[in-house]
Formats: sequence, structure tokens, C-alpha cells
Amino acid sequence: MPFRKSDRGSGVLSIAEGVDRVFRDVIVMIAVAAVALTTIFVYLVAAIRPEQSRYRSAASALALAHAAMLDEASGLRGYLLVRDQRLLDTYQQGMTAVEAQNARLDGYLGADRTLAPLLLKMRVAAQAWESEWVRTVLAGNVPSDIQAAEVFYARGDDLFQAYRRAESVLNDRLQARRDDLYFQQDRLLASGLVTTVVLAAFIIVMANRQRRRLKDAVVAPVLGIISATDAIARMDLGVQVEPSGPAEFQRIGEGINRMRDALSESLYQELAAQERIEAQADQLRTILAMSREISGSLNLGYVLEAVASAASTVSGFPRVIIWLTDDESGRTLSGVYDSTTGHGVPEENLKAELGVGVVGQAVRYGRTATTHELGEPTVEINLGHTLRMLAVPLIVGARIAGAIEVSSTTPRLLSPGSLDVLETLASHAAAAIEAASLHTYTAELAHTDGLTGLANRRLLDHDLALECERAARYGRPFALIMFDLDHFKRLNDTYGHTRGDEVLQQLAEVVSREVRTTDTVYRYGGEEFAVLVRETGPDDVHGLAERLRSRVEEHFASRGSVGPVTASFGIGLVPPLPPVPAEVVGAADAALYWSKAEGRNRVTIRHAEA
Ligand code: GH3
Ligand code: MG
Ligand code: MG
Repeated sequence: MPFRKSDRGSGVLSIAEGVDRVFRDVIVMIAVAAVALTTIFVYLVAAIRPEQSRYRSAASALALAHAAMLDEASGLRGYLLVRDQRLLDTYQQGMTAVEAQNARLDGYLGADRTLAPLLLKMRVAAQAWESEWVRTVLAGNVPSDIQAAEVFYARGDDLFQAYRRAESVLNDRLQARRDDLYFQQDRLLASGLVTTVVLAAFIIVMANRQRRRLKDAVVAPVLGIISATDAIARMDLGVQVEPSGPAEFQRIGEGINRMRDALSESLYQELAAQERIEAQADQLRTILAMSREISGSLNLGYVLEAVASAASTVSGFPRVIIWLTDDESGRTLSGVYDSTTGHGVPEENLKAELGVGVVGQAVRYGRTATTHELGEPTVEINLGHTLRMLAVPLIVGARIAGAIEVSSTTPRLLSPGSLDVLETLASHAAAAIEAASLHTYTAELAHTDGLTGLANRRLLDHDLALECERAARYGRPFALIMFDLDHFKRLNDTYGHTRGDEVLQQLAEVVSREVRTTDTVYRYGGEEFAVLVRETGPDDVHGLAERLRSRVEEHFASRGSVGPVTASFGIGLVPPLPPVPAEVVGAADAALYWSKAEGRNRVTIRHAEA
């Protein structure tokens, strides 16, 4: 290829070097052709042309000499015939011409190794004719005897013929040499022509081959580069430019590959960022959905469930426990929601102390806390490590109301974005949980008696209506026990109202301990109480009332701080059906009145009147 430095070398030429190399090869070929043709031309001009002109001149001198010799011979013969001296002038002129032409022939052929001996032979023959025959004629010694004269003439002819033969041989050889030279010249011209044609063909073939190579070396890489840039423009980043062709193209190819790498890297980063943003947007949507869901709700259970579900979605941790501080001092916390139990109510009594454990730390410092390798709780979160649990404080104004604990049995990585979102979720959740807790608390207050902590009369009215409805619909029996402390006024008067209040509180505790969880104790008003006894027949209710009566009596008898405290009991029984709340209360009240009338500290039972 024109752009490889050598067949074995790995270096690559630049475009300029490659083009130079192609043209250099062609120019070398043309130069070789020019040198070959010039050599032929020079050889033709310097060697063959002078030889040709020498032989041509020699041939002309030989012809002139021959003509002069004939003039000599004819002059002499004429003289012999008519004996006229003027005819000898012709002879003389011929002789002068022969000498002149001989001098030329010497000049042309004297140094010629082949022709000089033939020239000499011809001269010797001419000389023989001159000396033997011509001199005799000129001396006037021609025999007078006819026979002898014939012999003399015949001798003259022989000698002249010998000259002519020698001249003819020389002439033939001279002609042959001239023909040789022409043939040589033709051959040189022909070989020059053939060389020119061959070289021209070779140059054309080579130039064409170099042109093709140049084209391949330039066009193929350019097409590769174009298709790569097109692919990159279509965002097809799997494309790779193979380095080929001249150095400049290889550098362009490497540049495109680097550009593509940089582009895919930034695209990857962008996609990752987009994914992060989308994930965060999803998380924020989760918070938004949760906020919408809980904003209107004052049901604490519902709010806790929505918060726990959103916290699990946002963090990716499957288990969520929501902790709330127990009282105003905030020194202890209770787990009020656990996502692992079906209904969210923690199975065991979950308790935590301020500053102790991950939850305690989160609540103490008002910052998200976790444990790293050593298991020590800390608020210094290192998100480069996997985490098993995380507690995010629930902050309402300046107060920390609790914490959301998220955990997993397998360690997980949490992104900084997810942590931010989880903390945002906690701040929204805190306000909603606080509002729902407050609502629950005030709702409880509305149904609770402040002194004894028992349900109040308002709740009794509500519960009694509900129970009457249930009994009417399902025929379920129930009873209302009402009891009133005996001579309580006297106790108040004797020990003071404070002691009277304490007696009321103790009484509430004693009675609450005795009844089943399905039964409810109410403070009906003053020193009058009621117990709603569900799913119980007349005997059992009577048994219960009797037990309560004796427990009260026993309790205060054993104390001794106040005098004996007793109570009188009245039971309103259902059926008859369908019951009416006022009738039930009326029956119980009437029975109670009867107990008082009968001497107090006793139990009376009465059926409600339908
Ligand atoms: P009886 O055996 O007939 O029921 O006599 P009693 O004195 O208990 O009856 P009475 O209805 O005349 O008196 C009720 C007293 O209960 C009057 C009141 O001082 C007292 N009392 C009512 N509510 C409270 C309270 O919250 N605290 C205290 N210390 N006393 C109360
Ligand atoms: Mg009383
Ligand atoms: Mg009373």
C-alpha cells in the first residue's frame, strides 16, 4: 500500500508522503524511459550517422575515381587509334581526377580494417595497369606488329579488367557496409520504439495501479469514517473505526473512537442521572401519594399504615417499625406499628429508651441514625457501605415525636437521594402522626373520666345503644350493673374530699381488675358506677356483681385508712327483647334503689321492662 512505510515495517505514511511516493515511482519510470531513448538517440547520432556519411562519401569518391579511370582508359585508346595528342589531355584530366579521388578514399577508408586492404588491392591493380600498359603507350613503345599489338592491347584489357574487378569488390563491400549500417540504424530505431512502447505501457499500468492503490487507501478509510460519523449521528455508539489508510485518517479514526467513547460515557452518565432523577421522582410521588392519603385522616392506625408502606417503598427496606415517645419528657418510646405483623399492631411490647440503640440515638439527636460494622449506633451515616437498619426521627416543630425504623435481614445500599427522600417523608409523616395522635388523645379524653380514668357516662350511652342494637338483631344477652357507694357523703365529711377522691380511684382499680376485657366499667357520675357485662346470663351477672361487692368491701376493710367502704348494686337484665337503653338503665337504677332501701351493701337484680 502506498501508505505503509515498508512491507515489514509498521509505520504509516502521511497523505503527502503517500502521494509523493506514488508520483516518485511514476517519475522514476518516465526518467528511465527518457534515459533509454536518449541513449539510443545519442548512439545513433554519435556512432552510426558519421559512419554512414563516411561510407556515402567513400562510395561517391569510388564512383568518381572509377569514372576518371574510364576517362583515362578511353583517352588512351582514342590516342592509340588516331594518334591525336589532344586525346591525351583527356587521359591527363582523368589521371588528375583519379589521384584526387584516391586521396579522398584514403581519407575515408585508410583506417578501415576491412576496406583498407581492398582499397589497396584496387590501387595495386590500377597501378599495375598504369605502369605496365599506360607507361608503354605514353613512351610510344606500342608494338607495330599486328599480332604483338593485339597481345599488347589484350594485356591492357586484362590489366584494366583486374582493376575493375578489384574496384567492384571494394564497391560491393562498401555497399554491404552501408546496408549494414542502415540495418543497424533501423534495428536501433525499432528497439527504441519497442522500448518506448514497453516503458509507456509499463508506466501506464504502474500509474494506474498506483492510482487505484491511492484511491483504495484514501477512499476506503474516508467511507469508513463517514459511515462511523453517520452511525454516531444516529446515536449508534457500538460503531468502531478501524485505523487504516494514511496517518491523518488513522488519527481522525482514533479521534472519532475517542469522541464516541466520551459520548457513550456522558450518555451513560446522563442515563444514570436520569434514572436517579426518575427513581427520586418515583419516591417523591410515593411521598405525595402518602401525604394525600393521610392528610385528611385522623385515624392513627390508618396513618401509621400509610406511612410504613411509603417508608418501605422509598427506602427499599422491607420491615418498618414506627416508634412514638410515651410522654412529654420523651425518655421512653413504644413501637406502635410493625409492618411484619398482619394488622400492624406489634406482637410484643416494643420499648426503647432515649439515647439507647439506633432508635434512641435518632430521637435524642434528631438525626437519622444507623449501625455500621461494629454494631455501635451512630448518626454519622456512611452511605458507601451497606446498611441493615436506619432510624429517621419524626420531628414536629421543636419536638421529636418518635422515629421511623426501616430494616432488612440482608444488608442494602441506600443512595443519598433515597435518604433525603426518606427524611422528607418522615417530616411529612411526623405532622400527620402527631395530628392523628392528638385526635385520638382528645377523642379518648371525651370518653374518659378524668379522676378515675374509667370510661364516662357519654361512652356508656353510646355503648349501651350499640349493645341494645346488637341484642335486638342477634338476640345476645347482656346486663348493666350499677352501683353506688354507701354513705359517701359521710366519708367525705369525715376524711375530706381528697381522701374521698382516692377512694373513688381505688374503687375504679379494684372493679376494673375483676371484670373481663370484654366488659367495660364506667363512672356514671359522682360516686355512682356502671359495668356493661356482655354475653352473660342472669346467674353469672349476679355472681359477678356479688364478687365486686365483696371485693370492694374487702379492699377497704384491709386498708383501714378510711372507715369501711361498701357499695350497693343493682342489675338491669336483658332480655326481654328488644331492649331500650333507658329501660335497661331504669331497671338497674331501680334495683340499686332497692338495694339501698333494703339496707345497702347488697345486690338486687331486675329485668328491664320491654
Ligand atoms: P347513700 O348511701 O344513700 O348513697 O348516701 P350518700 O351519702 O352516698 O348519698 P348522697 O347522694 O347523699 O351523697 C353523695 C355524695 O358523694 C355527695 C358528694 O359529696 C359525694 N361526691 C360526689 N362526687 C364526688 C367526687 O368526685 N369526689 C368526692 N370526694 N366526693 C363526691
Ligand atoms: Mg352514695
Ligand atoms: Mg349517689
